[in-house]
Amino acid sequence: MSVNNTSQNGAVPARIAMLGGTFDPVHLGHLRSAVELLEMLSLDRVHLVPAHVPPHRQAPGVCAEQRLAMLAAGVGDTPGLIVDDRELQREGPSYSADSLASLREAYGGDARLVMVIGHDAFLKLDSWHRPERVFELAHVVVIDRPGHEAAMSASLRELIGQREVSTPHALFDSPAGGLLRIGLPTRLAISATAIRQRLKEGSSVRYLLPGAVEDYIQRQGLYQDP
Ligand code: ATP
Repeated sequence: MSVNNTSQNGAVPARIAMLGGTFDPVHLGHLRSAVELLEMLSLDRVHLVPAHVPPHRQAPGVCAEQRLAMLAAGVGDTPGLIVDDRELQREGPSYSADSLASLREAYGGDARLVMVIGHDAFLKLDSWHRPERVFELAHVVVIDRPGHEAAMSASLRELIGQREVSTPHALFDSPAGGLLRIGLPTRLAISATAIRQRLKEGSSVRYLLPGAVEDYIQRQGLYQDP
């Protein structure tokens, strides 16, 4: 077992994260979390991966191409953040296990691959498509989300088993299979649901999402009642 997170040939393995979501629309809760994760876990990159067809929820009202365009507008040239359209290239439901498999193939077996999810999404992990496969391919890092503090169900606890570690160092000792729960410095109680609701009512969404995303929404007339 290595103690300094180096691979067998002595090179420091890449640390890559995937933050998947509907991004309907992307907001500062997503983007600030991604930047703080980059710093806190010393990641090389965070791939932001919009779902083409989210498997666990109603189809979004805004098409995948527009959600991707908003994500690209919001990310701009932020260092370390990658707008990743791999789920738009696949037909059928967008399973995270499939996206992690393609990232694993791209970065190789030594890379430290992390699937990032908010605590609300984590609470449903046991009902996902092939959750054990997720842990074969990646670590899971769960971020606190204000207003989503509920406890784990018995079946989620069973899925987690002995996987939980308490430090990034322990997590990155291996390429996949661990669980780390962390609180980021800036916890933002922002949700896409609340943003859609505000837009529908004609209320302001200023400073809840990047200005470029707000401009795109206004130009395209998204989320407003017809
Ligand atoms: P909705 O309100 O439509 O459900 P959302 O705001 O939860 O959307 P998603 O695109 O569903 O956004 O979220 C993608 C991922 O980002 C999920 O893992 C979710 O838990 C996480 N996330 C979303 N908003 C925040 C936030 N404010 N802070 C931390 N994590 C977040």
